Amino acid sequence: MAKLIDGKLISAQIKDEVKAEVSKLKESGVTVSLAVIQVGADPASSVYVRNKKKACEYCGIESLSYELPEETTEEELLDLIRELNKRADCNGILVQLPLPKHINEERILDEISPLKDVDGFHPVNVGCLSIGKPGFVSCTPAGVIELIKRSGYEIAGKECVVIGRSNIVGKPMAMLLLKENGTVTVTHSKTADLKAVTKRADILVVAIGKPKMIDASYVKDGAVVIDVGIHRDADNKLCGDVDFESVEPVAEAITPVPGGVGPMTIAMLMKNCLTSVELQK
Ligand code: NAD
Repeated sequence: MAKLIDGKLISAQIKDEVKAEVSKLKESGVTVSLAVIQVGADPASSVYVRNKKKACEYCGIESLSYELPEETTEEELLDLIRELNKRADCNGILVQLPLPKHINEERILDEISPLKDVDGFHPVNVGCLSIGKPGFVSCTPAGVIELIKRSGYEIAGKECVVIGRSNIVGKPMAMLLLKENGTVTVTHSKTADLKAVTKRADILVVAIGKPKMIDASYVKDGAVVIDVGIHRDADNKLCGDVDFESVEPVAEAITPVPGGVGPMTIAMLMKNCLTSVELQK
């Protein structure tokens, strides 16, 4: 039986640590604040935004809420970001994705000051991560590192395989594992023999976006398996990219879906709000 890596528990610990730190800052007269911008009323985005604001409230972080109509133009959104970039009472800026089709996402994300980019998507922060300078790190992969380390698993010297090379998960994930001295291989949709590579992994991070694709035939006995995927199956039940029933008996440890990586993303966003205060000093 694999050990279950409990993302709910670990994310709660991180939020409590952030809360304690925010309260210390408050005592010294520093307020931590996050601007949360949503354009349009996509129901899934509304749920994410609500959860982010709830987490802010829990941690004592002030959230500045901007719920803009679907018809908001790119220029209007850029103007808001420029204003927030300048405001001293705003530490972090988060633009909920996806944006409506008439707005160029890349242009918007590039406009956010790298010092307020709590999602870690700005090219300056991506560059800082790759050369080991301080900056913001994308929340989901940062959360995966916390899950592995706080569950007591060593990364240094281990064979780490990442499936997926997206800008928000796969690539930063690989950089972070490398920073922790793992021996890292990144695989993707064009990898010739995926199983041959994943079977080598002591630590396997799966971020493919394909429900239950990774079964036991991809996994080495005793591997630590982290499932970033999140989907609804035919019965409307949440599942990941990993076939949990198949992999659990061979893995040393595994994250469940839900309750694994999912809750870590918001916890790391809260942590990044603290980083924003540090970086802006
Ligand atoms: P993406 O679609 O941007 O990237 C998927 C990657 O998987 C690509 O790099 C592609 O090359 C690779 N891939 C696709 N098919 C493959 C195959 N057959 N073999 C090997 N590689 C293959 O997705 P993403 O944004 O990185 O997200 C991945 C998953 O993680 C999704 O299920 C997404 O919903 C989930 N996700 C969860 C969180 C969270 O907070 N838990 C956050 C972000 C993403």
